[in-house]
Amino acid sequence: MPVGSRKSGVVNEQKIWELLALVPDPEIPAISIVELGAVQSVKTDGVQVEVSIMPTYSGCPAIKTFTEDIRKILEENGVINPVIHLVYSPAWTTDRIGDEAREKLRAFGIAPPERGTADKGVLFGGGAKAVPCPRCGSKKTEIVSQFGSTPCKALYSCRECLEPFDYFKCI
Ligand SMILES: [Zn+2]
Repeated sequence: MPVGSRKSGVVNEQKIWELLALVPDPEIPAISIVELGAVQSVKTDGVQVEVSIMPTYSGCPAIKTFTEDIRKILEENGVINPVIHLVYSPAWTTDRIGDEAREKLRAFGIAPPERGTADKGVLFGGGAKAVPCPRCGSKKTEIVSQFGSTPCKALYSCRECLEPFDYFKCI
């Protein structure tokens, strides 16, 4: 047990990252906010903890849940009054999603965002691009709605296996 009023060494950066890796994305519980690339940085002097979070989709209602979940898990693990910063610049993009998380998305039935291709123009400017079906891999898919189960996703339908699926929009 550490001795001393400041309890230095109680928390360290690695421990904070491990705790953050336990926080699921509020919308896609299969992946953590770390895998999503939403954690920009962690700072601690052993007592005070500062976490910088890059909100994934601005205006996404999930952000509030997100910060509350982070605060909760840190406080449960002895961090007093963690400071959570929301970083809007540089903005989070879907390119920050790791490869493993992309596979988890697919396994979850959600088509992961295609790397390096911002969808805004495509999704909001009329036509939609070919998104491979997460179930059968067919590219014969069509957009049903620009908004899927959440505003962050678009609803697609596969003409091969006839299953509807969510596509995680790129930004
Ligand atoms: Zn399919």
